[in-house]
Amino acid sequence: MTIKEFVAKEKQALSLDVSGMERKPHLVIIQANDSPASDAYVRGKMRDCDEIGARSTLCLLPPTTEEDFLLQKIAEYNADDDVDGLIVQLPLPKHISEAKVKLAVDPKKDVDGFHPLTTFIPCTPKGIVDYLADIGFEFQGKNAVVLGRSEIVGKPMAKLLLAKNCNVTVLHSKTTEEDKVFYIAHADLIVVAIGRLGFLDQRFQYKESAVIVDVGINRNEEGKLRGDAVADLPVAVQTPVPGGVGLLTRLALMKNLIIAAKNR
Ligand code: NAD
Repeated sequence: MTIKEFVAKEKQALSLDVSGMERKPHLVIIQANDSPASDAYVRGKMRDCDEIGARSTLCLLPPTTEEDFLLQKIAEYNADDDVDGLIVQLPLPKHISEAKVKLAVDPKKDVDGFHPLTTFIPCTPKGIVDYLADIGFEFQGKNAVVLGRSEIVGKPMAKLLLAKNCNVTVLHSKTTEEDKVFYIAHADLIVVAIGRLGFLDQRFQYKESAVIVDVGINRNEEGKLRGDAVADLPVAVQTPVPGGVGLLTRLALMKNLIIAAKNR
């Protein structure tokens, strides 16, 4: 089953779930940038809400928005009983502290899973693990390599795989090439989230049975979206870009939104 088919199947189940709910889950997205990429992500999330029968509201603010004003907006939505999930689209303008914004969102509504006290699993790692479980990947005792150590992907991914009893190694920008070669060659699962076009390529050796999950979103010279891995590496499974982890991330957001609505 392709990721597209998996997501379609899961969304059907979510629609059924939502159709049985008296109050439809409501997601609020605050966007304080004018990035075309963010516009596309936000549109995608709102379309997903529509598809599963949930409600969504976009609060679009100019990039010149003051930090205090944004924090006040967050406080308003935190206090609004009709809002189940609240997310602030990244990136934020440079003059606004991402850390402050993440802390300001009520952990009960933090469906992105960014607050330190959140009960939600961040969407990209959650989407990946759900998909791996669906394709029958057995986590226990497997060598998992996570490339990248960001707060939103690398670190929570490593934590989640550890909770699934994988042997987890995190590689990052300060890891030597020699060590990367060693760990990648022994990996059963490689999650690459570094934002480097085609970083995983034929110069590495892979286990034939390995699974590569490509989180990276990069543009090639022709402006096309491509991942952190070159296509068709000699492994058992490799997720595509586009049409891969991005869809899984969006699906996980819808799952978190429904959980948030049910928790209330
Ligand atoms: P980031 O951009 O904040 O940080 C990059 C990470 O990669 C750092 O931890 C750094 O140590 C590591 N790194 C950089 N160069 C490296 C190298 N040569 N070798 C090993 N490690 C290296 O990370 P991010 O926000 O997780 O984003 C990573 C990529 O994933 C980006 O392309 C981003 O657009 C994409 N992304 C996709 C989704 C999705 O839903 N598909 C979600 C989030 C991020």
